[in-house]
Amino acid sequence: MLLVLLGAPGAGKGTQADILTDRKGLAHVSSGDLLRLHRQQKTELGQLAQSYMDRGDLVPDDLVIRMVLDKLSEETDGPGVVLDGFPRTAPQAEALDEALGGNEIDKVLHVKVPEDELVRRLSNRYICRGCSRPYTAESMGRPCEFCGGELYQREDDMPEAVRNRLQVYSAQTYPLIDYYKGKGKLVEVNGLQDVDAVTGDVLQALKD
Ligand code: AMP
Repeated sequence: MLLVLLGAPGAGKGTQADILTDRKGLAHVSSGDLLRLHRQQKTELGQLAQSYMDRGDLVPDDLVIRMVLDKLSEETDGPGVVLDGFPRTAPQAEALDEALGGNEIDKVLHVKVPEDELVRRLSNRYICRGCSRPYTAESMGRPCEFCGGELYQREDDMPEAVRNRLQVYSAQTYPLIDYYKGKGKLVEVNGLQDVDAVTGDVLQALKD
């Protein structure tokens, strides 16, 4: 099974992907997490990606496409994959279709959240350095309850970068909604609900 989670930064894609990993055994492939790992390990890709990410711009397509397709080619054993944060541009969506050949994406879930709520969530978001789970400001100073990692605010969750990321999303990623609608793959999910209700809708969409 191949699922794609589409939605603006802060829509809750990562949270839902983690839940799908727990409940369905799907491998969670997050382009943002892969890029952050490259940065931590100071690889050439990590160093190239750094300034784009800190500004909230997209990392160039050729770099991200190669990274994600390589990762996908390693994930052939389990029941499937949930892709989080990829594709984010038309060339990425086309490269993914091409790489899949006859194997199709099963569903593209668009997690929809209004912009003022996204700004509120992102500016109050703190992330675990170890496992990338999200927390709010109230948890700062405490370790991650899952892995004991340190919580921090991502450079790209600062106000200026947040505004830029939302603009980049509208200009470059939002058009993919029509792309997947045209292919009959798109399912809309209301991301304003609490986490369990969003998960309920996601699981229902997988049955339909
Ligand atoms: P995320 O954790 O998904 O919000 O991604 C964090 C940052 O990584 C983004 O703001 C981009 O700079 C970069 N990034 C993640 N996924 C992609 C992608 N598919 N294409 C280009 N840049 C990406």
